[in-house]
Amino acid sequence: MRIVSPLLKNLVYPLLSEGGVFHRTSASGIAIVTYHGVVPPGYELVDAAFDGNLVSADMLRRQLRLLKAHYDVIAPEDFLAWRQIEQKLPRRAVLLTCDDGLLNCLTDMLPVLQDENVKCLFFVTGASAEQSRSMLWYEELFLMLLKGPAGPLEVSSEGISVGGTLDRRDQRQAVWWDLVKRLSQLDATRRASFIYSLRDRFWANADPAFGDPSSPTCRRYGLLTCSEVRQLISAGMSIGSHTLSHPMLSQLPPGVAYEEVAESRTRLEVAFNKRVWAFAYPFGDPQSVTSRVLAMPQEAGYQAALLNFGGGLGSALPPYSLPRIHVTAAMSLSELEAHVSGFYTRLRLHGRRSTPEQ
Ligand SMILES: [Zn+2]
Repeated sequence: MRIVSPLLKNLVYPLLSEGGVFHRTSASGIAIVTYHGVVPPGYELVDAAFDGNLVSADMLRRQLRLLKAHYDVIAPEDFLAWRQIEQKLPRRAVLLTCDDGLLNCLTDMLPVLQDENVKCLFFVTGASAEQSRSMLWYEELFLMLLKGPAGPLEVSSEGISVGGTLDRRDQRQAVWWDLVKRLSQLDATRRASFIYSLRDRFWANADPAFGDPSSPTCRRYGLLTCSEVRQLISAGMSIGSHTLSHPMLSQLPPGVAYEEVAESRTRLEVAFNKRVWAFAYPFGDPQSVTSRVLAMPQEAGYQAALLNFGGGLGSALPPYSLPRIHVTAAMSLSELEAHVSGFYTRLRLHGRRSTPEQ
């Protein structure tokens, strides 16, 4: 049986949600959800997919209220105690996480979390152990390629040569994703040098990350500085590692990948005087990890490592490849609940069993 996704989204999920079917299912366990921040007021979206990882403050509030009403939102410390001493958790536990450490985590997401009295595990990069503001390299690259002049593109730097055409948006996106993978093969210094070589041609304006921290652009793209991360910690939030520089770990030589995993933990622990026990794989999709990469967080002393796909109650919970539900702006309340309740995963498993060609 092949079920068309829009039918699920627009008809089946809302009906099941309204009927209370999702939160009456017998599935138990832990559902871990991934946010990437909240769209700051006044920010104009540049691309639906690119900005689609961030949700509105209003949607976040509605999602949290739904999760609180029908599930048990646990604190990250409870999750750690479950991992370490097998402390019992509620039967239908939900853990909130948020990746990347954008400034809006503090300015726009934290107030909602505080209003709703829930805790979140924020995964930040080594850049947030510094006092100066920076931005994610692959976001800067996207903006450059999106806003750069149309026509042929030829760039050669740091041993990476790129050719392509930037006439249409899909061409720009294709060049961007190819570059994300190829630049992940470089260490952070050489990657930064490559991007610097593009700036003259593609970035006429000032870097948005260095603007006024109250501006929507800075809140959207700027990464938290170390004093801002301290404010999150003071507010009762937890911090995990998301590597030093957010590469696609599967593309890096193993030694450099391991340094991204292990050194980020050390750097964050020193900067914040807090134990860093959780790790989230950058990008977190199947192509961003290998079996060698999946072994690294345990070797580096973490207690848990999280992917960014799968998830929901009833899912298997391997401690170093924990599945997570990736929340996007396009996800409705009922769709979120289909994922959290484990309904979506069970449906997929059933679909796979009954359609061997998929
Ligand atoms: Zn990330």
